[in-house]
Order: sequence, then structure tokens, then C-alpha cells
Amino acid sequence: MPGAQCPGARDPRGVHPGPPADDVANALAGAAQPRQQRRARSTVKIDRQVVSRGTQPPAKREVGSGATVTPDAAVDFADVRGQTTAKRALQVAAAGVHNVLMIGPPGSGKTMLAKRLAGVLPALTFPEAIETTKVHSIAGILPPGAGLLAIRPFRSPHHTISDAGLIGGGLGSPRPGEVSLAHNGLLFLDEFPEFPRNVLELLRQPMEDLTVTIARSNMTLCFPASFTLVAAMNPCPCGFYGDTTRECRCTPAIIQRYLGKISGPLLDRIDIHIEVPAVPYKELRGEERCETSEEIRLRVEDARKVQQARGFYNSRMPSRLIRKQCARCRGRADPRDGRAPDESVCTGA
Ligand SMILES: [Zn+2]
Repeated sequence: MPGAQCPGARDPRGVHPGPPADDVANALAGAAQPRQQRRARSTVKIDRQVVSRGTQPPAKREVGSGATVTPDAAVDFADVRGQTTAKRALQVAAAGVHNVLMIGPPGSGKTMLAKRLAGVLPALTFPEAIETTKVHSIAGILPPGAGLLAIRPFRSPHHTISDAGLIGGGLGSPRPGEVSLAHNGLLFLDEFPEFPRNVLELLRQPMEDLTVTIARSNMTLCFPASFTLVAAMNPCPCGFYGDTTRECRCTPAIIQRYLGKISGPLLDRIDIHIEVPAVPYKELRGEERCETSEEIRLRVEDARKVQQARGFYNSRMPSRLIRKQCARCRGRADPRDGRAPDESVCTGA
């Protein structure tokens, strides 16, 4: 194949370009049809121009059968007792598209929190929905009769996954891996250090470039991989290092070896590291009302609007702009309006 095509070659600014297309609905209405899937799989040729041409937003978020898709209402942040700090950190991550690492003992609610993070993300925009649906269609995992995907994907592969399964590739025609199937959504890696180190190291390139390039002797393919990584791990092999109620049985050497499975460069690419301690029984039994996912999502959407107006999501802001945007945090007046230093500008959107 002479020229590889990148279905999700994103705007390098990190904000999705262009309004949705009215003719795209027709072009992609049959994205899930077997014939079209076969064609997509055989040529792996996706026309991105179609995505950014039109002007009209979709009237309704629907699947092919006509049923409106809504996020799983059974999974809500209101179910998670305590963990105020972790919840706040996850909101910041959702708003700024930051990768997150949660560290805590077993049973502290890391998996619960990760699953609920998908529910506070803004709905897919029309161009994003098209890109995501294309990738799922190529992989052949769209359910029969389904049309455009309406909610952000949440992928949670097991730690026995192979490198081809995570990144993409495989025998014959290369297929997208989990990083591409999580495009515009979340990739949750539970038991992070249990993944083979060589597999984890492969994450570095897509996390940096937001795409995966697979080169073969007869073709070069490029799959989109703009995902948010949510990783969870125990602080040590037994899980109770630093816990106030249980005793850790691990030696320093064992803990060191365990933590050493995750390399420094990979940790560098994870912006937010959260400690998720066990919640005391008293707090679990408490009647205190917790914020719902819907309330959090509204705040996340507001924060994203500010970032979209600025042109970059927080996690993808170039250093030149960080210096400009955070001028007030460095203890001097903002050059734009001469206002006094203000710490609050760095904590919000
Ligand atoms: Zn331990």
C-alpha cells in the first residue's frame, strides 16, 4: 500500500476540528453492515475529508435501530462513598484529558471509580462518533444493527493481553488494538504492574503521538489512538503497604521490584497520580449525599468549553502556552491584563 491513511489524524491542538457533516450520516449510515465492514477491513482506507466537510449536527444520538443510547445509569459516582480527593482528581482528569494512575489497597474502590469516570465525560461530538465507529467497524466488534456509537468507549483489557492485542497488528491483516478501540474514550488497565513490561512500554508512543503506526513489508497502517489512560495498582504485591489497618508482609526489595515494573518514562506520561486509601467502615455506612455523575459531568463540560475556546486541552497544551496561561502562578502579573498573581487560574480549566 503506497500511502498509509490515518482515520483519526487529529488536530495536533488536541481539540477536534470542524463541524459535523450532514452528508456524512448517509455515508456512514451503513458503517455496521457486513459488506461495508469487509470493504473497510480489506482496504483500511478511511476518508477523513468526509468527516470535516459538512455543517449540520446530527438531530439525535441514535443507534441504527432507532434506540437512543444513554450511558449506563446503574453506574454512578453517587454510589462511591468517601474518596473525595480521588473523585476531585478524576474530575480534573476528565476535564483536562489527563492520564491517571490510582494507587491503593485492594477493595478501596479503584475499579469502581474508573468505571464511573466514563459517565462524567462529555458525549462524543459527531466527528468523534464517526471516527470511533470506523475503528470499531474495522475491528468487527460493532453489534449487529448498530449505527454510530454515541457514548465514549471504555476498554478494560486483562493483564494477560499480548502486545498485538494492546497496540494493534497481528497475523494477516493488522487489526486495531485496545488503544485504538479506546479512541476518544478510556483505556482502563487494572493491576497495572501485572502487565508484561514490554507491552506497557509500547504504550509510550501512542500516548505521545495519539496514533499507532503499524509497518509491514507490504503496507503501513495508521490507527488513531487518542485515549485517556486510567491505570490502577496496589502499592505492593500484598496490597497493604502504607495501610493503617492491615500489615504489609512485603520486604523493601520485593516492593522495589514490584514498582520497578513500571518505567520512569511511562510514569512521566501519566499526569495525575492519586492515592486511593481504604474507606473506613463508618464512612461507608454514612448517609451523606454524594454528587451524582450528572452533576459532575456538567462541570466537566463547562471546563472543556473553556479549553476548546482556548484551542488546547490542558494535557495537550504546548509549553509555550503553559507559560502564557500560567503567568499569574509564577508570581508576576498577567501580561494580558496586568492583574495580580492568582493561584486559582492553575487549578481550574
Ligand atoms: Zn505488601
